[in-house]
Amino acid sequence: MFERIDYYAGDPILGLMEKYSADSNPNKVNLGIGIYYDENGVLPVLDCVKTAEERIADPIAPRPYLPMAGLPGHRKGCQELLFGKDAQILKDGLVATIATIGGSGALKVGAEFIHDWFPQAKCYVSDPTWGNHIAIFEGSDVEVGKYPYYDKANSSIKFDEMIAFFETLNKNDVILLHPCCHNPTGMDLTQAQWDTVLNVVKARELIPFMDIAYQGFGEDMDSDAYAIRKAVEMGLPLFVSNSFSKNLSLYGERVGGLSVVCPTVDETDRVFGQLNATVRRIYSSPPSHGGRVVDIVMNDETLHEQWVGEVYAMRDRIKAMRLKLKSVLEAKIPNRNFDYITRQNGMFSFTGLTPEQVERLQIEFGIYMVSNSRMCVAGLNTSNIDYVANAMADVLKD
Ligand code: PMP
Repeated sequence: MFERIDYYAGDPILGLMEKYSADSNPNKVNLGIGIYYDENGVLPVLDCVKTAEERIADPIAPRPYLPMAGLPGHRKGCQELLFGKDAQILKDGLVATIATIGGSGALKVGAEFIHDWFPQAKCYVSDPTWGNHIAIFEGSDVEVGKYPYYDKANSSIKFDEMIAFFETLNKNDVILLHPCCHNPTGMDLTQAQWDTVLNVVKARELIPFMDIAYQGFGEDMDSDAYAIRKAVEMGLPLFVSNSFSKNLSLYGERVGGLSVVCPTVDETDRVFGQLNATVRRIYSSPPSHGGRVVDIVMNDETLHEQWVGEVYAMRDRIKAMRLKLKSVLEAKIPNRNFDYITRQNGMFSFTGLTPEQVERLQIEFGIYMVSNSRMCVAGLNTSNIDYVANAMADVLKD
């Protein structure tokens, strides 16, 4: 009966994690999956989250179903973080936001919505992008294409090519954009470049879908949301998926949000209704625990302030690791340019290693990164950075 079912080859990134766990090398280093580990190589529980958890646990409360859209405080938290606490569109009621099962859940609900209500639309993702972007949109029967993005030869962005490509798209085509900390390249647009992109979006009546999974890890909470707020200022319709997995270090709780900015209150109500209907037919309602943590941290002024500080501490540690990695590699291989390491933002660095070099790192040194050469810089710490830099220098020299 089930013999004809295809084997699943596994997810390239999650599969690496399993391989890493099974590796007996005592010096092994996990730079594969996008998870922030602290200076001791430990997945942190943020202090603001600990406080929220204490409040949730005392007294232990009943667990009713949440509304399809999740907790109002979770939704409000998403909105204020993305659009700014005092944003006029929030006062005017022009944003339909639902709490979702992580950023992935937000992308899925958004993809379903686009399939249902914009059936002609194609979705264009950056080349390269996070692999699941393609899988999620194709899984909702939305045709996916790629737009030029990363220039491997120069470790930069093919900006002119990208703009020229956007100029060829049709009304209501969706372009999936990373407002900050591009995954997997770490290469972000400047604010001036965002302005140019959004002018093309406006002129060609494209639908921008901004996926923000690393807010606070680039420059700061507000600058990282520049593209989102600029699109709002320009009066564009806009989809935003956001994830709290990384910036609240709540990976397994699956917390995120989907927001759709609409031109009128009536349209906002309609969109909100259909987002609810989409949730109902996929998973009915989101889980409550993570949602309660988000609600507490985002809406308590003191905890919120503490949270922002904790995110910036993670951001700064990653930046310090970038500087250190660059300086060791420069010292080891003086004729090669490693500036890209500190030009990139967020958790990831596209190292430009060949798949063979990535494999050598894994087999000879127990250092795991994605075969496209993406390294999670947040897996580096002062104890393993020299080991990693020396190993990288070794495979780069040969
Ligand atoms: N978008 C991007 C760009 C991501 O990197 C990730 C997580 N790797 C997600 C969305 C999904 O986030 P979550 O883990 O919260 O589902």
